[in-house]
Amino acid sequence: MTDSDPARKAPGAILGALAALLDGPGLQAGDAIETRFRKDWYAPLGAPPLAVARPRGTAEVAAVLALCNRLGQPVVPQGGLTGLAGAATPQGGEVVLSLERMRGVEEIDAQAGTMTVLAGTTLQAAQDAAREAGWLLAVDLGARGSCQIGGNIATNAGGNRVIRYGMMRDQVLGLEAVLADGTVVSSLNKMQKNNAGYDVRQLFIGSEGTLGVITRAVLRLAPLPAATQTALCALAGYEDVVRLLRHAQRALSGRLSAFEVMWADFYALVTTRVAGVRAPLPAGHPFYVLLDLQGNDSAQDAPVFEAMLESALEAGLIQDAAVAASHKEAASFWLLRDAVAEFPTMWTPSVGFDVSVPIGRIGEFAETLRARVLAAWPGAEMMHFGHVGDSNLHFGVRLPDMDAADFPEHDITDLAYGVVRDFQGSISAEHGVGFHKKPYLHCSRSPEELALMRLLKRSLDPNGILSPGRVFDLG
Ligand SMILES: Cc1cc2nc3c(=O)[nH]c(=O)nc-3n(C[C@H](O)[C@H](O)[C@H](O)COP(=O)(O)OP(=O)(O)OC[C@H]3O[C@@H](n4cnc5c(N)ncnc54)[C@H](O)[C@@H]3O)c2cc1C
Repeated sequence: MTDSDPARKAPGAILGALAALLDGPGLQAGDAIETRFRKDWYAPLGAPPLAVARPRGTAEVAAVLALCNRLGQPVVPQGGLTGLAGAATPQGGEVVLSLERMRGVEEIDAQAGTMTVLAGTTLQAAQDAAREAGWLLAVDLGARGSCQIGGNIATNAGGNRVIRYGMMRDQVLGLEAVLADGTVVSSLNKMQKNNAGYDVRQLFIGSEGTLGVITRAVLRLAPLPAATQTALCALAGYEDVVRLLRHAQRALSGRLSAFEVMWADFYALVTTRVAGVRAPLPAGHPFYVLLDLQGNDSAQDAPVFEAMLESALEAGLIQDAAVAASHKEAASFWLLRDAVAEFPTMWTPSVGFDVSVPIGRIGEFAETLRARVLAAWPGAEMMHFGHVGDSNLHFGVRLPDMDAADFPEHDITDLAYGVVRDFQGSISAEHGVGFHKKPYLHCSRSPEELALMRLLKRSLDPNGILSPGRVFDLG
């Protein structure tokens, strides 16, 4: 394909060819393109795409990709558009390939303990179907009502239960994906053990739409827990946070199912500024930890959970604790953590981060970062929270006295990722790289790793039509 190829310069020809492949609702073009397809969660509105293709099944996905590959037409896959790295936001002239019409759970195999699901199914719909059949689909995150299984796989989503069940990668036993040239690779494996050659599903997990379009997945299911114990603890220092984590893991024998840490700045912000969020414990403690035990028998689990908290109190690991007495109260504790969804509108101008740092050094990392940010911007506000049991810290920096137009997002980002590099952390714990983190990928990946990523991309997508410019540039 060259720039002089007439097809490349003829969007009308591409639209005509797409229209021949898809039904009426399957194609939007020109003014008929709905605005919702032009951005993902935090990204500004992208340029209008050439078209939005909404295929009904794998065969149509394959036909669209084969056509676009032949014509050198860039394509960006879209799931629920809740991604936080900007990767699904179309660039001008791209074809959006939305999976939203490919929804549904095809099978729950009670003997294998698996679910086969179409990629456009929302996470919540898949979770509900699993629950109705007596199983748990263990990945869970705040965007569950909108994000799709395909998007969860393409971003290797993490969320609130990673400490017990792992990330999306750990739930995917098999998948079906369509390569850039339209080849359908069906790898719908249901088996835990399968070492017959390369594990091709891993190529697509976390690839952010750059190596293929995921159309189906076989997901591992876990036994549905019958009861959950939830508590909020107040702690005096970060060392105690780590000691409580290890104490709870030991005492609960592998059933610790969430360990969400909130720094005092985050706790004060959500309990004073977000409507409907109440403070189960008084403000003013340096750290708060929200923890869950998921088990099968409340009568047995509750005393074990309470004994774990009592021994933590006696050992001085925690200063105070509130145990949820009902599902309703547990849900109100979780509102503390889910309140982050309000930040983009109420805490501005600001920039948020999702990084990983070795668990033992997260406290020191946060202090170093705070000192460097305040040295550069003395009026800055900061807040910290995260899935610390998985090495994952989220933080935000706000400059309350500054106009949004003057907000130095790039300077703050440079500083923050410099500290991540100093601590040998990762610039992306669970949100991916997309466009937002592309300039900083070298902070967390070696030149050899980047070269291998480029080699894979060139091999699987030689014409570079799939999500060009995301994650890294081909150079
Ligand atoms: C309130 C809120 C809370 C969140 N909490 C978490 C959290 O706790 N943990 C976490 O990890 N993330 C979290 N996220 C981020 C987001 O929900 C996840 O990244 C999610 O997995 C994205 O899924 P999606 O379907 O919305 O994908 P999209 O945003 O549509 O796309 C994301 C990326 O995947 C690609 N893609 C989408 N579908 C496919 C497909 N079928 N085949 C190939 N590529 C595809 C896109 O091209 C893009 O690169 C949160 C987001 C919000 C808004």
